[in-house]
Formats: sequence, structure tokens, C-alpha cells
Amino acid sequence: MRQDLPMNGYRPNGHRRVRVVLDGRLIDGHGRLDARAAWVDAGPIAFRWGARLDIGEDVLGWRDARSGRTVVFRRGDPHAEVEGHGVVPLSASPEWSDGQLLLPADAVALAGGATVRLDRRAGALFITRPDPYLARFRILIDPGHGGNDPGCTYGDGRLEKDLNLDVARRLARLLQAAGAAVALSRTSDVELSPLQRCARARQFQAHLAISLHHNAFWDPSLQGAEGYFYRHDPGRRLAASLVGALARVLGIPNRGVREASVGILRCMPCTAALVEAAFVSEPRLARAFAHPWPRTKEAMALLEGIRGFCGALRGDGVLWAPPGP
Ligand SMILES: [Zn+2]
Repeated sequence: MRQDLPMNGYRPNGHRRVRVVLDGRLIDGHGRLDARAAWVDAGPIAFRWGARLDIGEDVLGWRDARSGRTVVFRRGDPHAEVEGHGVVPLSASPEWSDGQLLLPADAVALAGGATVRLDRRAGALFITRPDPYLARFRILIDPGHGGNDPGCTYGDGRLEKDLNLDVARRLARLLQAAGAAVALSRTSDVELSPLQRCARARQFQAHLAISLHHNAFWDPSLQGAEGYFYRHDPGRRLAASLVGALARVLGIPNRGVREASVGILRCMPCTAALVEAAFVSEPRLARAFAHPWPRTKEAMALLEGIRGFCGALRGDGVLWAPPGP
């Protein structure tokens, strides 16, 4: 035991709680932020990743199920020893007691081969490992409207075009962390024609394209997610998977999917769906979407929907899958 380091253990003084989003899904419990680091209870994370933990009084061995690599942490020591790679500094020292394994988030990322991102405004810490299957996909996200075309208006004068772009950006970050190649048809407040959006998908050689919208209706009580596809069955399945995940994660009705002969779906060179993620004319949702977390949650739902679609392609009845190893 190294006596020159403070061994008082972690004292959660002045910490702030953050949500922990592991591989795009919110997990129980919470992380903590203090001046030194973002902290997480590493036990549930190791369990979800199938890692093997060897917890001694002062030494913790973490064997990653995927790589088979072992990382050794020492209580009170802000370094990790990566088997075969040497010593790596950590943002803070791991601490454990009473069944709680408090590690700085970068330690968990190192052990599991993940990336960590903190979104302070949304109050969420994202720990994401690449998904080998999702990493084969090239995905175009198309935020609806833009420029002189604001889409619908909600809340106290907020515009659909801005909400679409914000959620699209959140979804892009989640997908990229999972290893997918992602492009947005627009990254700023510009007006694009359906042909320009489709050209972007062609140029990017997208396998999937998702056009993202939000609905409004004169009756403010109307709620739900709905999806559209054009002709081809993979598009129907993609739309259904997205709408199902939105309904589940946001707790809103599933209004189903329909065929629609709209320009954006007709000209897409790949499997495509258009989603009307939610009715922002519903006052509770309109208020919620003023804050970053509900928008992040919607992006997580869309990620879930994409995963569901890509996962379904893995099983029997594969209609189409991107080339790859
Ligand atoms: Zn729209």
C-alpha cells in the first residue's frame, strides 16, 4: 500500500449527480461529478459488459470479456496498469467499499474500450463501446425543414426545424460513439430541397436514411409517434422499429407506419424512413423539449430503433445488409 497518497476514501462533497447512459441506454443509479472527475459505480457497468472483476482489498483486476485484456486498478492510486501496455494515468484514484466500486469514468472507459462524453446541460454521462455490427452501417440523418422553412411552431414560439437539428445532432453523436459512420443532410439552419437531401445520401453512400420531423395538430391532446416509408419493405421495417422505440422510450402512443409518396422518400437511394417523432403541440411535451435531456432521450430512442432494425437484419429473413467483414 502506498502511504504517501491520501487514503481517506472518496468523500462525495460538493458533488453533482449525473445520469449514466451506457451504450445508449440509461442505467439505474447515477454518476457523480466533482472538481476532480466524473465518477460511476462500476459494478453494474462491468456486469452489463460481461467483464470479470477480481476485487481485492486494495487491488482490482478488470478482465474485459470482448478483448480478454486485463486492467489492474489500485485503491487510492490514480494510475491503471494495462496488461501488456504499461501504466496509464487516471483523472482520479479508484475507491471501493461496501460493495460499491467507485471509479472515475475514464478508468471504466479504459477497462472496457469505451469512450466517455459528458453533456453537462443534459446532465448525462455517456459511456459507449463500439458496436461491431452497427459499425458496418453508413447512416444519413436528415433533420427536416431549415432556413425559410421553419416547420411547425411549438411552446413559446420554438421552431420544429431547430428541434429536428438538435435531436439529429444528439443521435449522430450516439451513433458515432457506437462506431457507425454518420452524416447529416444539414448541419446548420439552411433550406434544402428533397433532391439535395437525397443527393447527400447518395454522396455519402448511405445504407440507411432517416428523415426526422415533429408533428403539430390543432387538438393539443393528440400524442404519439408515427412513421412513413415508400414502397420497399426494409423502409417499412425501419420506420416501424423507430416508431416502436420512440413510443416505448418516450411513453407516447405508437400511431403506426404508413406508405407515403413524398419526395424525400421517393428519391432516397437507400433504405429510408421518415418519422414524426412526437406531437410538440401537446403542451407537456412542448415544455419538456425546451430542455436538453428529453431531446437526448428522443435521440436514445431513435438509436434503439436503428439498433432494432439492424439487429433484425442479423437473423433469418435477412433482406439486405451492408457489405463488410
Ligand atoms: Zn416537419
